[in-house]
Amino acid sequence: MKTSIERKKAIFQKTDGYCHICHSKLGFSNYGRQSTKGAWQIDHSKAKANGGSNHMNNLFAACISCNIQKGTKRTKTTRAQYGNTRAPFSKAKKQKIKNGNTAVGGVIGGLIGSVFGPVGAVVGAGVGAAIGNGSSPKK
Ligand SMILES: [Zn+2]
Repeated sequence: MKTSIERKKAIFQKTDGYCHICHSKLGFSNYGRQSTKGAWQIDHSKAKANGGSNHMNNLFAACISCNIQKGTKRTKTTRAQYGNTRAPFSKAKKQKIKNGNTAVGGVIGGLIGSVFGPVGAVVGAGVGAAIGNGSSPKK
């Protein structure tokens, strides 16, 4: 079955152009070109031999070597060999996470600032000095 360029693009973009197994960067134009930089293939997450479908949710971009190595093994098992538990995120998903993290970072930054900020440092120094003075033996 020949895969249309639109379909390839959609699959490629699902993981923002990274191999879903080892997370290496793939080169879109090197689809199917073994031993070129970023050469990739479409992997059936659940192998066709195991009843996997041709639906988009079962298709991922993978290095040719990863795809061969994976064979009919489970995606989870093969990803685990690279210390990965999931496919790389798409660009849209990454952006979403980035925006979320910025908001969370701001809140945490605010909290840290309120605890350890300039005022906190001054109060801390004052308390530290008081304790230090109190505990020093009287001359
Ligand atoms: Zn790979």
